[in-house]
Amino acid sequence: MELIKGNDIAATIIAELKAEVAAISGRKPCLALVRVGDDPASVSYVKKKEKTAAEIGVESRVILPPVDISQAELEKLIDDLNADETVDGILVQSPLPKPLDELAIFRRVSPAKDVDGFHTLNLGKLAQEDATGFASCTPAGIMELLGRSDVDLKGKHVVVLGRSLIVGKPIALLALQKKAGANGTVTICHSATKDLPSITRLADVLIAAIGRAHFVTADMVKEGAVVIDVGINRIPDASRKSGYRLVGDVDFDNVAPKTAQITPVPGGVGPMTVAMLMKNTVKARQQGTAA
Ligand code: NDP
Repeated sequence: MELIKGNDIAATIIAELKAEVAAISGRKPCLALVRVGDDPASVSYVKKKEKTAAEIGVESRVILPPVDISQAELEKLIDDLNADETVDGILVQSPLPKPLDELAIFRRVSPAKDVDGFHTLNLGKLAQEDATGFASCTPAGIMELLGRSDVDLKGKHVVVLGRSLIVGKPIALLALQKKAGANGTVTICHSATKDLPSITRLADVLIAAIGRAHFVTADMVKEGAVVIDVGINRIPDASRKSGYRLVGDVDFDNVAPKTAQITPVPGGVGPMTVAMLMKNTVKARQQGTAA
């Protein structure tokens, strides 16, 4: 079993981006980070994004509207960022507090600045294999992890657990892509899938993105499979100061010995998401509004 080390691969990408940004003449790329409310996970994600941007030489602009901002006011804020020529990328940290309509906000972001890849147009471009679009960061990060770990998807059976717009659907599209040469044979499973273990056991590459701690057990995995664990779940742990620890959707200790390659949680897919956000921001700066 070989561990796919997301921390190391993300560090390599960050170093590559740093060199790319240094070579940009004139204004450096700028990422607007919009966080509404004080959800602790969102606070730490935005901090991490800010820190990574600084490391690369990407300017970040953190915008913290009041938690009771109205839909119309938030849309106006997005419109202003869309019109601001010194802003290349816009990220609205999910989840937005209720009753804000998150999908409407994602769609409000100019597609050319949609570095999260959640806009309808960018999801459409992903389906059409148009490389000018932005693929959402976690799935794009998974593809980088696989590529840089010499996992060739061509002709392989890729089973995706989860069909969210943020992870499941876009990773399925990326694994399927013809032009970019992925060429996987993809099956997507969800909560209505019958006899899930009989499908996961067929996977050469199993990608788990369902948000349930230790859901994927050893009996669900084929000997020699590659397993990518996207899940981030908190479970109680009295030995930790925080009282909890983070685990994935995969029962790592029992599954890992059966696999050829596997990502850990933390330190697997997570760091790649931030690295790919930066990659998309640099791409947005280079493409301008041409996208
Ligand atoms: P969602 O809750 O949006 O989607 C979960 C998906 O899993 C749904 O499609 C759901 O099916 C499916 N599902 C839930 N329970 C089961 C089950 N028992 N059997 C089969 N399918 C099931 O989650 P996300 O896609 O946003 O995130 C998934 C996980 O990945 C979470 O733990 C999240 O924290 C993590 N994540 C990690 C990131 C990273 O950077 N590492 C980034 C984004 C997410 P249905 O559609 O039928 O409801």
